[in-house]
Amino acid sequence: MNRLVLASGNAGKLAEFKAMLAHLPYDIVPQKELGVQDVPETGLTFVENALIKARHASAVTGLPALADDSGLIVDALGGAPGLYSARYAGQPTSDAANNAKLLEAMREIPDDQRRARFYAVIVLLRHPEDPQPLIAEGAWEGRIIRELRGNGGFGYNPLFLDPNHGLTAAEMETALKNRLSHRARALAALNQQLLSLMQ
Ligand code: IMP
Repeated sequence: MNRLVLASGNAGKLAEFKAMLAHLPYDIVPQKELGVQDVPETGLTFVENALIKARHASAVTGLPALADDSGLIVDALGGAPGLYSARYAGQPTSDAANNAKLLEAMREIPDDQRRARFYAVIVLLRHPEDPQPLIAEGAWEGRIIRELRGNGGFGYNPLFLDPNHGLTAAEMETALKNRLSHRARALAALNQQLLSLMQ
């Protein structure tokens, strides 16, 4: 079967990608298995960083490459932590430190101004010089609460409330989160593009 390299070392993401793209005639292989090192994410937007990662993985392996980039965007903080979500509280990266920093930054923000969204972009490059990559995005709207709730998943999950369900992302069953999430929506959009290409 044809192989597609996934420019991510995150095991959780690999499982999501494999499940959602199972119908494609591709075997999705994480870049680490092919000896690809992480590349510096020097872009100023999510889409630039996803393209940098995919282009690097494709150039090293000679295979088509899939990459994603994602983060949390808080309106009242001018979009922070945004592109820097993983390292918001500095290095080494720590979910607990990031959540503590976010809580502190939001302490004085009134309840009606705590809107936020998770955002993800996924790109597919057929080869390193592909001038027309497939680009799909997804967003998940919610709000930032005032204390941690739940312990599922990772990152900012315990502070991100989905108002339609009354649950934080950390309180949800994995199946529900994987239906609502920014990454699931971006993957669904990518899927649509792939299906129309194959018609
Ligand atoms: P990356 O796309 O792996 O670079 O992730 C960026 C950062 O955004 C993660 O380290 C998390 O802090 C945050 N993030 C992205 N997606 C999620 C999510 O689904 N839940 C919680 N945090 C997330």
